[in-house]
Amino acid sequence: PRTKSEEWFATAQRYLVGGVNSPVRAFRAVGGTPFFVERAGGCRVWDVDGNEYIDYVLTWGPAILGHAHPRVVREVREAADRGTSFGIPHPGEVRLAELICRSVPSIEKVRLCNSGTEACMTAVRLARGFTGRDKIIKFAGCYHGHVDSLLVKAGSGALTFGHPDSAGIPQDFARHTIVLPYNETEPVRAAFAGHPGGIAAVILEPVAGNAGLFVPRPGWLEFLREITAREGALLIFDEVMTGFRVAPGGAQQRYGIRPDLTTLGKVIGGGLPVGAIGGRREIMDCLAPVGPVYQAGTLSGNPLATAAGLATLKELGVATHPPDGNPVYRRLEELGQRLEEGLREAARAAGVPLTINRCGSMFGLYFTDRPVWNLDDALQSDRERFRRFFHGMLEAGVYLAPSPFEAGFLSTAHTEAEVEATVRAAA
Ligand code: PLP
Repeated sequence: PRTKSEEWFATAQRYLVGGVNSPVRAFRAVGGTPFFVERAGGCRVWDVDGNEYIDYVLTWGPAILGHAHPRVVREVREAADRGTSFGIPHPGEVRLAELICRSVPSIEKVRLCNSGTEACMTAVRLARGFTGRDKIIKFAGCYHGHVDSLLVKAGSGALTFGHPDSAGIPQDFARHTIVLPYNETEPVRAAFAGHPGGIAAVILEPVAGNAGLFVPRPGWLEFLREITAREGALLIFDEVMTGFRVAPGGAQQRYGIRPDLTTLGKVIGGGLPVGAIGGRREIMDCLAPVGPVYQAGTLSGNPLATAAGLATLKELGVATHPPDGNPVYRRLEELGQRLEEGLREAARAAGVPLTINRCGSMFGLYFTDRPVWNLDDALQSDRERFRRFFHGMLEAGVYLAPSPFEAGFLSTAHTEAEVEATVRAAA
């Protein structure tokens, strides 16, 4: 090894079977040695070799305020001083639940858990319990976490790209899960027609951020709302990535659609583990102890994690301003617009085909001249070119998501100057 990062990487490969943030996995899609972070602050990370990067990964999304935001650090520290593991009711959990219910239009009641995965798993189980049906429609390229293997690996990036993770899917997943192309209506109609009274729920990312970024075609979310209501199935919005990011009340607020259930994660934990599932009161009351669908977690709603989540949501001003008058989200939108325009200009000047999908502060880049509405379109992009672009940007001090099928994010800590620097690096 020549660098400290290379040394750490060699050791990691010996001892660690790592997940998405781990060095073993991190640069798989783009090749090369991942860097190891020594410290992070704002939208910057510094590696163990002293290199500095402008970070657009933000730990895959949670750090919407940037890393180590002073308010989050302070309120977590204060919570730690009050005691972290008392395991009895405490106000923080209730406050976070209240703030979520006041912010997300369709959520009347909420259950906190530890991750987006748990939230999605619970949503699916709850939908089955509530409807008495078992089939779930999901969309290729949408990712709903790693645990509910009856559902999640099917059509997610892992399976589609032949990732070794996709081994071990129970044989019966196909009996329960119907995987359809994102942004299409006919396959959804056909699936309902083919399974009358059998479909418990349609689950989707209302803006899909796990295969780059797909935004919903005009009218598609309305179509899903209408057909699920008519057929007695639940509509589940997985807003783990979009919640409190594309608007204070998530994609459902931005697009004006009310799902029956919503899952949340990432931003609501402000960097610590918090997930949530919420929705209409009568569905949520199917969860134990009120109803029969079991869900629990030793550390759910713990004081430290809820303190980080509360500090983040308060700093974002989510329930303080009217949704379309929130200055934080307006600024994120402006930064997103500037980044998009700059990258488009750079690509045009270089004669490189580039499709940018963006929703507020989330963006996905594809090296193709065709629009990207779904996974089939995404697969047409030039991934080799993305790899070269990724490494070029890294050398210029800009850390993009190390996968052509992951979205990038802007934080409130990014400045106009940093966006300009990013555009110059891309050019
Ligand atoms: N759902 C979506 C849309 C996600 O992006 C993710 C994580 O990337 C998950 C669910 C799973 O959340 P977690 O990684 O917190 O378990």
